[in-house]
Amino acid sequence: MIPVKGYAAEAVKVPLAPFNFERREVGPHDVLIDIQFCGVCHSDLHQVRDEWGGSIFPMVPGHEIVGRISKVGDHVTKFKVGDLAGVGCMVDSCRTCPSCQEGLEQYCETTGMVGTYNSREIESGAPTYGGYSNQIVVDEKYTLKVSDTLDLARVAPLLCAGITTYSPLREWKVSPGHRVGVMGLGGLGHMAVKLAAAMGAEVTVLSTSPNKEADAKELGAHKFVVTKDEEQLKSVTNYFDFIINTVSAQLDLATYVNLLRRDGTMILLGVPTEAPHIHAFNLISNRRRIAGSLIGGIAETQEMLDFCAEHNIMSDIELINIADINDAYERMLKGDVKYRFVIDIATL
Ligand code: NAP
Ligand code: ZN
Ligand code: ZN
Repeated sequence: MIPVKGYAAEAVKVPLAPFNFERREVGPHDVLIDIQFCGVCHSDLHQVRDEWGGSIFPMVPGHEIVGRISKVGDHVTKFKVGDLAGVGCMVDSCRTCPSCQEGLEQYCETTGMVGTYNSREIESGAPTYGGYSNQIVVDEKYTLKVSDTLDLARVAPLLCAGITTYSPLREWKVSPGHRVGVMGLGGLGHMAVKLAAAMGAEVTVLSTSPNKEADAKELGAHKFVVTKDEEQLKSVTNYFDFIINTVSAQLDLATYVNLLRRDGTMILLGVPTEAPHIHAFNLISNRRRIAGSLIGGIAETQEMLDFCAEHNIMSDIELINIADINDAYERMLKGDVKYRFVIDIATL
């Protein structure tokens, strides 16, 4: 076993603290990654606080991982020692079901995807531990290639916030002529703005925070709507082809669904604790749709990383020491983050 240092929540609602644990030995298809940076996703916070139920403790969160490969298994072909590498939200799946075969491993139909943390390895049943740690062992099939032309700390959030917003934009073929609304300018939201703008859409940020307007425009948004302002909200009624909903908290969904034009689609990405409520009338008028999307497959994640390298797209981050992770969670809850916290793992 490989001894590893990390930060863990020992139980629900307990602050994260230093935690020593062991990783499996590097198998024939595995790579060992010396982690350099790990992004902080709102999903980390939901799971540490067991807001979705079934959390496994102790929990080492973190699924926006970048670093350098320090060891490879005998059968590894994609990577060599010294390469940069990334790991996102999943580290395994059954590999044989129709979804896995189609490269949609996140929708694995037999075992389900194995999450990078708060999950269990398929054969051993051992809990998985994430990227708030100095090393990780991952099968090369679930490891991504990372370009050395970008700022590595700013690449980390692409592994979740990037792919989670890229995948639905591609699935619904967002392109020039489309009007896209992005609800919530946080980690996912700011990536949605950059990516949708790069794909040529007209982008409007729908935010509860008036002070984010200048940033939104700088990120590439064409319009900014303060959703608490009724007049502003009214100005975009029946307006959008797509709304990317990244809000992590419960809100009145109908208010926002009414912003969709005929045949418009709202894609749910945020996962509030409470189930959303919607009346059939909000959907049957204008033949509107509500859909959902979960991260993205491995091949699509690589495609997104390559797209970002080509278009020079990175996350806007605040680099933090790992000892400040609990404060970072509190700030994230208040929407006080521009626009992703990234842990400098050298501070571990
Ligand atoms: P985040 O950085 O905290 O951003 C969430 C944003 O939502 C906030 O910045 C804020 O934006 C808005 N917001 C927060 N509370 C609100 C409230 N009470 N009412 C209205 N707006 C509110 O979070 P994130 O990391 O982007 O994650 C967002 C959600 O996506 C989380 O629930 C996370 O678990 C989920 N997620 C899903 C997937 C997936 O595969 N579907 C992947 C990753 C994350 P404004 O200040 O602009 O209003
Ligand atoms: Zn995430
Ligand atoms: Zn499968």
